[in-house]
Amino acid sequence: GRVTGVHGEILEPSGAARGEASSRVAVGSFEASGAAIVVTTGGIGGNHTTVRQQWPDGRAPRTMLSGVPASVDGEFLAAAARAGGRLINGDRMWHYPEGIRNHSPVWPQHGIRILPGPSSLWLDASGQMLPAPLFPGFDSLGALRHILGTGHEHSWFVLNRTIARKEFALSGSEQNPDLTGKDLRLLASRLGPGNDSPLQRFLDRGVDFLQADTPAGLAAAMNSLTGLPLVDPAGLDRLIRSRDRQFDSGLGKDPQLAAIRAARRFTTDKVMRVAPPHRMLDPRHGPLLAVRLSVLTRKSLGGLHTDLQSRVLDGAGQPVPGLFAAGEAAGFGGGGIHGYRALEGTFLGGCLFSGRSAGRAAASAV
Ligand SMILES: Cc1cc2nc3c(=O)[nH]c(=O)nc-3n(C[C@H](O)[C@H](O)[C@H](O)COP(=O)(O)OP(=O)(O)OC[C@H]3O[C@@H](n4cnc5c(N)ncnc54)[C@H](O)[C@@H]3O)c2cc1C
Repeated sequence: GRVTGVHGEILEPSGAARGEASSRVAVGSFEASGAAIVVTTGGIGGNHTTVRQQWPDGRAPRTMLSGVPASVDGEFLAAAARAGGRLINGDRMWHYPEGIRNHSPVWPQHGIRILPGPSSLWLDASGQMLPAPLFPGFDSLGALRHILGTGHEHSWFVLNRTIARKEFALSGSEQNPDLTGKDLRLLASRLGPGNDSPLQRFLDRGVDFLQADTPAGLAAAMNSLTGLPLVDPAGLDRLIRSRDRQFDSGLGKDPQLAAIRAARRFTTDKVMRVAPPHRMLDPRHGPLLAVRLSVLTRKSLGGLHTDLQSRVLDGAGQPVPGLFAAGEAAGFGGGGIHGYRALEGTFLGGCLFSGRSAGRAAASAV
């Protein structure tokens, strides 16, 4: 359903009710009526038209996957703006370069984000390694900017089965039945070798997943998937063998191998997230895998301008009577409580905190 008023009618904050019911409550008259609206409709990631309009340098990718449901469309943000609320920081968004097409989509263009450990080779569309320190899982925004700067929109993880099993987590409640279902037995199974069922489904059915026994075979599959002869088989072979030589000698100065060794000094990462270093071409760890990655829309750090009580402000910095906003609709409570370059995973806290402020302020207002 859509946002409804206290009498159940569908509301536009401009004052007009939609549909057949007449509006008895509108934002402009909330103060007088003693009612309040708290806008918590999320960001804009489900609306690619708006995402494109707000893309920082105007050069959004032609193809994007949706990392949020279509209902997260920003429609109500526009309506709140028509009621006087000021929209700010629209170009502050977090979209991810590690998106894969969901084999069983829940919403249109449904993409899943891979939360990667550090061991995969990350290659651009033409098979060149992303420069240090753009290793998997290190700097999503930096990697996104670099990839789009190559003139292509996709990139690749190249790895093997051992790395995939240990290091690929998939973002999303349906991809993590142990956490979603609070199932401790299933959670513990993440540590065992059988922990690959959601991942296995992608290996079996995901259109972006390719397997081969040799680098040349993998390059051929990559070129066939995109229909573009961009990945040089000999070049990919050299890249993988050069990584393996660095591992063999133990002396190489490859910054990614150094980062992997550093990550394994942290016990949780060692147990849960980082595969023991090994030769990528070791057949015991095969087959080789390539995963085509696409841009995935996700978080909006812009939104309705609010103060510390989550009151929506107008262009003059004055509260719009009766109108509050929280969560992503308010740019995580004020343009991103933790800042644009916030630590991954800290966004939800700002949503909850601004929701608490909004709830308290709205309760005192009515
Ligand atoms: C797969 C995934 C993984 C994530 N992982 C993390 C993480 O690990 N850590 C982290 O901090 N953040 C994470 N995020 C981001 C975080 O979940 C969101 O920022 C947060 O859920 C936003 O909360 P919200 O309540 O503001 O908006 P939402 O959760 O988007 O809720 C908005 C709701 O409003 C509804 N709605 C929209 N328009 C209307 C309308 N006109 N009328 C009525 N209803 C409407 C929508 O249907 C939706 O239910 C993740 C997001 C996704 C999608």
